[in-house]
Amino acid sequence: MIEPFVHVGVPSRVVFGRGTVSQAAAEASRLGITKALVLSTPDQKGMAKGLADRLDGVVAGLFPGAAMHTPVGVTERALTEMRTLGADGLVSIGGGSTTGLGKALALRTDAPQLVLPTTYAGSEMTDILGQTEGTEKTTLRDPRVRPEAVIYDVDLTLSLPAALSGTSGINAVAHAVEALYAQNANPLLCVVATEGIAALHRSLPRITEAPDDVEARTDALYGAWLCAVCLASAGTALHHKLCHVLGGSFALPHAQTHTAVLPHALAYNAPAVSDAIKRLQGAMNTDDPAAALFDLGISVGANMALRDFGMPEDGIDQAVESTLRNPYWNPRPLEREGIRQVIAAAWSGQRPEA
Ligand code: NAD
Repeated sequence: MIEPFVHVGVPSRVVFGRGTVSQAAAEASRLGITKALVLSTPDQKGMAKGLADRLDGVVAGLFPGAAMHTPVGVTERALTEMRTLGADGLVSIGGGSTTGLGKALALRTDAPQLVLPTTYAGSEMTDILGQTEGTEKTTLRDPRVRPEAVIYDVDLTLSLPAALSGTSGINAVAHAVEALYAQNANPLLCVVATEGIAALHRSLPRITEAPDDVEARTDALYGAWLCAVCLASAGTALHHKLCHVLGGSFALPHAQTHTAVLPHALAYNAPAVSDAIKRLQGAMNTDDPAAALFDLGISVGANMALRDFGMPEDGIDQAVESTLRNPYWNPRPLEREGIRQVIAAAWSGQRPEA
């Protein structure tokens, strides 16, 4: 039976397909951008230059300085550049780090944003911004940070290295898994989440085998968009909380941490979320979704042990304390021993037992 629900849609304009980067100039003009600052990481400066060439006449300049976790110092330098150049809009090409910089600038200027994602992280659909100052990371939600338009061009993802494609895709899967049992889950989001998980589950191992498989890349980007819609519209629970705590405490890489933690966070919640488990069984064609997510990580060549990313063993207890210090909504109450087992299993990289 359908329970009463509230649904809030994502108000972004989405252009999806191969070669859609060709529509960047038209999309920028549609947003009223006449002088764009094009953002990227230093690694993707070449891609940003190629995009700037296509944005004929509406480019003020490039800022190829985006960095992981949106450091406030980088944002301030970009803001100075924006003002010096008289830029009136932002065009971000890259993964969550570049999108984060665009969002941080939009928060401060209310400038319109066009985003061209090149990973599966999903930040482009959300009104969420995480920023770091020194070692402190803060997260906020604000309608000004949500990009007005997004161009998903499959061709831009072909160069994403196979290993990063796998973990970035599982990062997206995590958004959809938690949407299935979020406090504000609803029937539409459950359909979107199930479809997104199925698309990534079937395409990521194919991308590992052949990173230039356009059909698999198309399926993965489609799945990533659906999972991003889930993150934008639904709340999150234990899994995202744990990744935030672990990533912040031990400087662990974002997508890899999601990949290692997800099977264990789901195994913990499974007894409390039978409808979500049924959907996951269908989406991944399995009896045991937690084990299937672990196997997906292995099949894309991910390292499933957080200890290999530098997390110390005594960090397990520290992370348990941090998780329990600021309680979080979760479908299953947070129990100290259970949470400890989840973190210990992700630390050592063991396969969850049914
Ligand atoms: P990333 O943006 O840091 O990219 C990782 C590396 O891959 C970078 O060096 C980048 O230049 C390179 N790269 C990206 N796409 C490429 C491509 N197609 N070809 C070659 N190289 C490419 O990684 P990410 O996982 O996309 O983003 C992680 C960040 O995003 C984290 O800071 C995370 O907190 C944030 N995030 C935010 C939200 C949100 O809603 N606010 C959602 C998801 C992730």
